Amino acid sequence: MRLANAAIPAVFNEALPGGDLMLADIVIDGDRIASVTPASGSVIGARDCGGGIVVPAFVDMHTHLDKGHIAPRTANPDGTFAAALAATGEDRRAFWTAEDVAARMEFALSTAYAHGTAAIRTHIDSAAPQDRISWPVFAAMKERWAGRITLQGSALTAIEQLPDDLGPHFDLVTEHGGIVGAVMHTVAGREAKLRALLEEAEARGLDVDLHVDESLDPGRNDLALVAAEALRIGFSGTITCGHCCTLMAMDHATANRTLDAVAEAGLTIVSLPMCNMYLQDRHAGRTPRIRGGTLVHEMRARGIPVAIASDNTRDPFYAYGDLDMAEVWREATRILHLDHPVGDWPAAFSAAPAAIMGLADRDKIAPGAVADLVIFPARRWDELMSRPHMDRTIIRGGAVIEATLPDYRELAVP
Ligand SMILES: [Zn+2]
Repeated sequence: MRLANAAIPAVFNEALPGGDLMLADIVIDGDRIASVTPASGSVIGARDCGGGIVVPAFVDMHTHLDKGHIAPRTANPDGTFAAALAATGEDRRAFWTAEDVAARMEFALSTAYAHGTAAIRTHIDSAAPQDRISWPVFAAMKERWAGRITLQGSALTAIEQLPDDLGPHFDLVTEHGGIVGAVMHTVAGREAKLRALLEEAEARGLDVDLHVDESLDPGRNDLALVAAEALRIGFSGTITCGHCCTLMAMDHATANRTLDAVAEAGLTIVSLPMCNMYLQDRHAGRTPRIRGGTLVHEMRARGIPVAIASDNTRDPFYAYGDLDMAEVWREATRILHLDHPVGDWPAAFSAAPAAIMGLADRDKIAPGAVADLVIFPARRWDELMSRPHMDRTIIRGGAVIEATLPDYRELAVP
């Protein structure tokens, strides 16, 4: 297959000449990209992209597939974080059989695939007894979707709920191919729990994915705690911290000091701006002032790897969403000012999370890269960001796929 007149963002191919979007011809051999050359103008025998923007297939590295699509049966009554936590717990205890979790995961993966996503990391609620229900479902889904979506799972429990003996918990998660994590809360004893989690992960050579500082309380700074512990241990794997919202509310000196420590400790960050916008700074009758996300520009300036992802989908933590990374890209660009210039921000939705997740050959549109691409009819950033672009073309394994979004009617959420 040859793609003619494809506009490639500069971050995905430094070898092409100048500009932040470069017109190129892409030759695909099997499931790999064979060559990328400046556009010749010839479209004979090629698929003409007509100057449309082409990016690597998306990588959505922070989702909650086990929670997805429960909003119709258990809504968040006031849109707050506390109510989301309570509603989700109520729904989990009432409904989360293996069949229920599997049906909602299947629906979620179908949407992501149809939108052009090639890899997903999902958190899995892993406090007993849910862990023994959800992890086998995750492992079966991972196998079922292999070749279409590469799935990674990360265990999720409140930090204080981690058992003192981490052995059996780690065993269950790793038996099903997962990595470990926790939600950092401001609770007594969290330092010791975090230390034990990181030490056991280090001993087993596992990466860690944490929910950190999902709040606008400037007094909360678990990110600094994670950085300090990672440095103390000399953690050799990848520690990802999601959310990190309190940086938005912190004084500059503390935020800068914290980010310096994050860079020194080699932490990676995933920002979830759509979910954060929904939950953070929400008070009845008061217009929100601080809008979602974290200090992504200050992180990039320090060389800290930053990915941007979906987070929750139609559940009490976020009532909307469809695991559409083009939507996440568009919204994140507006919320976090990832434009003027666009720079290397397009990588935050594919190449950066792929690198953090350890997925090879997904960082460039260049010879040897996996031929998983999303082609938009949009030729310019303003065209790309102005429409939802359900008219995108998705290439997976070197061939155009014709996946359609599942109908909500297929999802029999009781
Ligand atoms: Zn999350």
